[in-house]
Amino acid sequence: MLNVKEYVKPNKVEEAYEIGQMPNAFYVSGGLMVAQLKISKVEHLIDLKSLGYEGIEDQGKEIKIGANTKISALMSDKILLLYGQPFRDALKEIGSMQIRNMATVGGSIAFKLGWSDLTTIFMTLNSKVEFYDGSFRKESLEAYLVGNHKGAIITSLYVPKPSGFWAFEKFSKSTFDIATLKLGIKIDIKGKKIKDARIVVGSRPMISERQEEVENFLIGKELNQMIDKVGDQIEKIVKCGTDIRASAEYRKALSKALLTKAMRRVEDESRVNGQR
Ligand SMILES: Cc1cc2nc3c(=O)[nH]c(=O)nc-3n(C[C@H](O)[C@H](O)[C@H](O)COP(=O)(O)OP(=O)(O)OC[C@H]3O[C@@H](n4cnc5c(N)ncnc54)[C@H](O)[C@@H]3O)c2cc1C
Repeated sequence: MLNVKEYVKPNKVEEAYEIGQMPNAFYVSGGLMVAQLKISKVEHLIDLKSLGYEGIEDQGKEIKIGANTKISALMSDKILLLYGQPFRDALKEIGSMQIRNMATVGGSIAFKLGWSDLTTIFMTLNSKVEFYDGSFRKESLEAYLVGNHKGAIITSLYVPKPSGFWAFEKFSKSTFDIATLKLGIKIDIKGKKIKDARIVVGSRPMISERQEEVENFLIGKELNQMIDKVGDQIEKIVKCGTDIRASAEYRKALSKALLTKAMRRVEDESRVNGQR
């Protein structure tokens, strides 16, 4: 049970960060995960909601999303329509409406959960994280996930404007269950050939990870000729673990099925919409 001695709601990130460096201090945004912490020694709870960092802004080449923005706000935003139906469909499958109304972008990324759909989606879209740890810094989301950022406050996410085609697939045992495995793919095409590829697998059950060997295998090849071949590659390479949801072998087999399905979606979209 939580045993909070002090609750603060600072207006400035510098102040929040300073308090955050005290022993047994925790940040809270949407509060969904913080409410479930099974520790009794939370002495300082630092509510980040008054810092601002909420909303979505078109900045030309990229889109800035404040860390306090709720998942439900991402779903209804006009600027984010740029990422097309796969984006809205993926968000619609996160938990329930109540969860999407509470969970924030910052809270979803900071916890470094393997099952965070937002992490897989934004990593596939090649996003950067801005955070404050005494000064403001920016890092790719994939670097952030493997780095040590204890005590840092995530302030914003920067997502490049879309190019090429992308898809997101996940497998869950029931609608509200977290994913057993999920996968995002983004492909840029020149002529008929794949110019660039990003493939990210999440819920392995470890944190989302890029599959660079498979990406490199695809580059320079024709998309439609790779659909039935690339699945074997990822099944061999992807690193998965076993937990109560599935064995590592089952997850590896799922990665093949999800990648093949995602490649088909990307191919369909590229046929309908041409090169972009
Ligand atoms: C039953 C249930 C099912 C769910 N299903 C899914 C699902 O299928 N897919 C999915 O993607 N998500 C799902 N979620 C949502 C999810 O994974 C997290 O609960 C949620 O994203 C956390 O966001 P929050 O804003 O509530 O974070 P909080 O609980 O406020 O914080 C989470 C952690 O991040 C830290 N933190 C918060 N904000 C910041 C910040 N700005 N900078 C640095 N650290 C910060 C906190 O100290 C805490 O350690 C589900 C949640 C629940 C409760």
